[in-house]
Amino acid sequence: MTRQYFLESALLPQGWVRGALVSVAEDGHISAIDVPAATQASSNRNLSPATARDSEPIPGIVVPGMVNAHSHAFQRGMAGNTEYRLSARDSFWTWRQAMYALANRIEPDDLQLLATQLFIEMLKSGYTSVAEFHYLHRQRNGDLYFGPNALWEAVATAAAVTGIALTFLPTLYQTSDFGELPLKREQARFALETERFLRAIEARVDAERRAALATLRTGAAFHSLRAVPLPTLREATHTLRGMDQTLPLHIHVAEQVEEVAACELHTGRRPLELLLDTGLLDQHWCLVHATHATGAELQGVAASQAAICLSISTEANLGDGFFDASRFLRFGGRICIGSDSQATVCPAEELRWLEYQQRLRKRRRSVLADKSESHGGTRLWRHAARSGAQAIGQPAGAIAVGHRADWLVLESTHPSMAGTPLENALDHLVFAGGAAAIRDVMVAGRWVVKERHHAAELPLAGRFAELMTRLAAPVRP
Ligand code: ZN
Repeated sequence: MTRQYFLESALLPQGWVRGALVSVAEDGHISAIDVPAATQASSNRNLSPATARDSEPIPGIVVPGMVNAHSHAFQRGMAGNTEYRLSARDSFWTWRQAMYALANRIEPDDLQLLATQLFIEMLKSGYTSVAEFHYLHRQRNGDLYFGPNALWEAVATAAAVTGIALTFLPTLYQTSDFGELPLKREQARFALETERFLRAIEARVDAERRAALATLRTGAAFHSLRAVPLPTLREATHTLRGMDQTLPLHIHVAEQVEEVAACELHTGRRPLELLLDTGLLDQHWCLVHATHATGAELQGVAASQAAICLSISTEANLGDGFFDASRFLRFGGRICIGSDSQATVCPAEELRWLEYQQRLRKRRRSVLADKSESHGGTRLWRHAARSGAQAIGQPAGAIAVGHRADWLVLESTHPSMAGTPLENALDHLVFAGGAAAIRDVMVAGRWVVKERHHAAELPLAGRFAELMTRLAAPVRP
């Protein structure tokens, strides 16, 4: 049955409107949007009495839900637990040892609990869909799971319980560094043969085609050029494209200076150059981080239409370096955001720091706004939501016909929004504490957060606290 909502104020593709009647079909997609004439001047001047009676009124400011294009759910178990100094040389690489230690303790039930809590946190902070970049494949003793992979199922179950839309990205991870070095002992749970990886993805893609679920999609990922030899990446990509031309494909790339140097040493090319040279990149690819990119590489990626996913919170936390976002946007590049290591699970904070990083560097203000959209918050939110939807291969990121009904309702009377002209609402959300104004969240036409509350959060609290107590016991490298 089609349901109708009367949105008091909303951000639609054409801009801010007052009074939009949105029809949502049974499958969770928007089937019609009726915007009365002269919407800027009056809230419901042209609405018929029948419309007002039959639709559910949504007071507040409705904006598209944000896409989280890069997450490792299990790392929620260590967020905040690695913020102490081990030596003057602490870095990404020392953090990685702590991450491996955690990865090697996680059982499927633990992962399901962590992911459930995490996905609730995402929904409450404004992410309505998530791409899970998942490389934890084997049992703790290194054996494969019998039947369906229990760790993969744990993530899917958490998504179903919480209502967040999921693009699941089984991730190929075969070598420990350039030069096809074998995996280290602590990486043994990540190992998967190419054939097994491809067959498992094919089975999921086939099953999803039959089920036509509104909020679940499988893609694939290559952990990095360190972890997947280039010929394997090339062949696997051709096979995956044979299954589905639009399959989302993700890869970590050029995050660390050392990684770029090792790549140059072994191949004579930089990682992004290698990827561009393959000729494989297109709008269904998402390059995660791409922190250390030259101007020519950024231009090449922009021309390929692949998205770049940034997680400034993680990149800052791990000391990765600066990404030249303003340059990439000038080339017409597409930027999406992700919570990655879960140090921060808040899209407003990601976007705020994306802009602030540029301001600090350039000693200017409003760096990432442009002629098409002068409001920084609106510009960043819309751009990241649309690019994120492209990256995860789901019809999200905008309140528009044919898109899924994924949206957030901001409380216009919340102190962070009080007195705000409508066109400033996303500026308040991103730059001035407005995340606290997120009151209700809808995914695929279903309310998953109402009055800042998710139905699954209270029953979960005790078990989650127990798990975190257990995991907080030394995670030192
Ligand atoms: Zn990552």
